[in-house]
Order: sequence, then C-alpha cells, then structure tokens
Amino acid sequence: MTKGERESDSDKDLRPQRCVVCGYIYRSVTGDPDNGVEPGTAFEDIPEEWLCPICGAGKSMFMVVDD
Ligand SMILES: [Zn+2]
Repeated sequence: MTKGERESDSDKDLRPQRCVVCGYIYRSVTGDPDNGVEPGTAFEDIPEEWLCPICGAGKSMFMVVDD
C-alpha cells in the first residue's frame, strides 16, 4: 500500500493516538475513511499531509494513548 519505508508489517504501532489540541482520538481499527485513511492503517502510515478531522492539527500534534 505504501512504498515500504518499513519492512516489517508485524511491528506496527496500532495504539490509539490522541490529538493534544482537541482530544480527537485516531484508532487504527477505524481509520479515517472520510479523509482517505482506510481502516487498519497504522498512525505512522497515515500521509504526513493528513490533518486532524476536528481541528486541523498536523500529525505532530498527536500523542500515543497508552492505557
Ligand atoms: Zn484535533
């Protein structure tokens, strides 16, 4: 699907990621189909130009939800 920056697919970080600006949580199982991110997409595999669907923050504003 992507052009293989990483070799191992088994190693993806599928933990939810929370937007620190608005609190939106991205979940890999759900993806963000409205914005072209298919369900099952690891956060690291989302295109860099993807923005938070709620507030428009970039990927750098997301942090792992570790609970
Ligand atoms: Zn946001």
